[in-house]
Amino acid sequence: MRFDIMTLFPAMVRAVLDESIIGRAQKAGYITVEAHNIRDYSQDKHHRVDDTPYGGGRGMLMAAPPVYDCHAAVCAMADAALGGNVKRRTIYLSPKGRVLTQDYAQTLTEYDHLILLCGHYEGIDQRVLDEIVDEEISIGDYVLTGGELPACILVDCVARMIDGVLPEAVCYESESIACGLLEYPQYTRPAVWHDVPVPEVLQSGHHEKIDAWRLERARELTGVLRPDLLAAYDAAHPPKPKKKRK
Ligand code: SAM
Repeated sequence: MRFDIMTLFPAMVRAVLDESIIGRAQKAGYITVEAHNIRDYSQDKHHRVDDTPYGGGRGMLMAAPPVYDCHAAVCAMADAALGGNVKRRTIYLSPKGRVLTQDYAQTLTEYDHLILLCGHYEGIDQRVLDEIVDEEISIGDYVLTGGELPACILVDCVARMIDGVLPEAVCYESESIACGLLEYPQYTRPAVWHDVPVPEVLQSGHHEKIDAWRLERARELTGVLRPDLLAAYDAAHPPKPKKKRK
């Protein structure tokens, strides 16, 4: 899968996405992440990309021409690399968009190519958004200074579900939210730390009991912190009817 990030601050997204698991996934060839500086496409002699909004108001807006030209160049580059005929989606990271969830991130894994557009200042001229953007995605109901961190979050969340990025699908399927519950508490060595022992059952080697303990803890925690999730989980996992005794 290929991600192209259109931004005024490419070093910011590279600093995040070239590290750790996503960085290794790029090196291993499971995903490609490219960052493009929208400023490189400015026709202005001072490389300006922003201007004041019509109608007045505070702040500056990113102008349409460099965003449009950057997008056209990114599409051409990706077509050359991927051989055209790819399933592509252009996403504008925006607080006005649909809020990103694990389920929605999973649907995005079906694309071969995601182009992520990061706004800055007061945002971007609506005309270019109408022309190039397929959808707007928000990472939550709060406002940040730019779309770079949201773009990194989206890449991280989607990429870890791409084959090969994590050792096995179960690594992301069994985690909080993805499995429908919040994850049970986990422990590692030492067996006793600050006088607190690891729960005995986890040291028993009895896998059925361990699974039952984990499910019970996950249900308890979810009931306290996210009763909405627990209700949805219970509705999707009704208890099995008990067999009648003859
Ligand atoms: N004036 C815009 C509004 O009221 O909707 C907010 C602009 S914000 C200061 C600058 C940029 O940050 C946006 O264009 C967007 O790319 C990004 N951004 C801010 N909050 C975001 C969020 N919650 N999710 C995704 N992107 C966000």
